[in-house]
Order: sequence, then structure tokens, then C-alpha cells
Amino acid sequence: MANWVLHSLKRGIRTERYRESEPLPAGTTPGRPKPQRMDESAAAALAECCPTGALQVQSPGIRVDFGRCIHCQRCRGDEGLEWRQDATWATHLEGAQESLGGSFRRALHVRYLDAGACGGCMGEARLIDAPQYNLHRYGIFITSTPRDADLLLVAGPVTEALRRPLLDAYEAMPEPKRVVAMGVCAINGGVFGKSFASCGGAAEVVPVDIVIPGCPPPPRAIIEGLLLAVGRSRSAQAVEAP
Ligand code: SF4
Ligand code: SF4
Repeated sequence: MANWVLHSLKRGIRTERYRESEPLPAGTTPGRPKPQRMDESAAAALAECCPTGALQVQSPGIRVDFGRCIHCQRCRGDEGLEWRQDATWATHLEGAQESLGGSFRRALHVRYLDAGACGGCMGEARLIDAPQYNLHRYGIFITSTPRDADLLLVAGPVTEALRRPLLDAYEAMPEPKRVVAMGVCAINGGVFGKSFASCGGAAEVVPVDIVIPGCPPPPRAIIEGLLLAVGRSRSAQAVEAP
């Protein structure tokens, strides 16, 4: 017991002073590309190197569609775009249900659902519950059953095999409920797209209220997405122009 106390005192507090601090280094995300002003030929060359069409020429520079960006980093570097480290990645979709209010602002129960994700998104999502991020201080709790969940956090393109389980989980949730699609796969199928084996995103099966782009989004961006669902964060733009 004494050793354990000594060890803790030596290590100090590891939980981030979120939002007051810079993110700790060694995260899995380099951030995300920033729309930039540039001449048309440079913008066209960058748009050409983007494998997903996330970069589009828009005078006087290049705009970024975050719902398509898979973080391949081809557009990064001396000749490319600057990248920024922020956590406000989540977007409230137009026409979606409004944020949950009242007591949900201090007690939100979340159910993860892996709908055919590669492992990246779920790996990041599981970190939000780690001591470094300390999810409980926001009044957000992970629950093991959709029957207790106010919010469904979906990752993956939704494989055909998982279409029914996703729908079942959604139907089992009590009202009011919200759905957050995490990662570009859950937004629109990402690199898997829509095919005989993939539904092409969570919105093809259940009503999605909020999207968190990224491949995968880092824990801080996921937390901001959950806070957005209860009206405690601001919505980012899905597409940003220079
Ligand atoms: S990082 Fe994103 S925007 Fe840049 S080239 Fe890759 S997919 Fe396109
Ligand atoms: S968005 Fe990227 S990290 Fe997430 S499931 Fe799809 S491929 Fe994997």
C-alpha cells in the first residue's frame, strides 16, 4: 500500500487539464490540414495528390472537406498545407435533432458500437475513458447496453453483417436518443465506400445527429463530439474554405 502511494506521488497527476492545456505529445494524430490561400496551379497540384477528393481548388486557394480526409498526410510538408492541432472536429448535421439538454448535460450514458471498424477508431474511443482524459469529470459514462444509453457512438462503415445489430441497438435505446458517427468510415464509408459488403456509413441505417471526422479522430476530438451532443461544445464546419 505504502509503495503504491509513493509511486502515485512520484508520478504526479497524469490527467490532462483539458481544455486549458496543450495535448500531451505522442498522440496518434498529427492534427488536420488547414485550408490555405495559394495560387491556382499549386492548389491544383495539391488537390491532385489527395486520394479521396478531400482537397478542392477554391479561389484563392484550397478548401478541405473533413468528411473525406483519411489523414494520409500526402498534402503535408514544405510544399503542402500547414496542419493544426485542435480538438473541435465534430459537426452537428443540418436538420438533425438538437443537442440533449437538461440533466443530460451532467449525466450522459454512451454506448460504443463497432460496425466493422478497422480498429483505429475504437482504439481512440476506448482511450477517452482512460485516466489521461478522465471522461467522468464531464458527467459522461460508458454503458455496456444500449438499453441504458442516451447516445450511440458508431465507428466503421457498417458492414452488411452489422446492419441489423446497429438497428437493434438503436431501437433498444430509450428516448430521447442521439447518434454520433465517429471517423470517416462511419460518416460515408470512408475508404470502404458503399458496396455489397458495406452500407457506406451509419446514416444509411440510423439517423445520425453529429459526425466526428478523422481517420481516426483523436480522443480529445471524440470528447468534444460528445460534449457537442449535450450542448457544451461548439460545432465545427464540415468543409472549410481559405
Ligand atoms: S491528409 Fe487528407 S486532405 Fe491531405 S491528402 Fe490525405 S486525405 Fe487528402
Ligand atoms: S475511419 Fe479510419 S480508423 Fe476509423 S474505422 Fe475507418 S479506416 Fe479505421
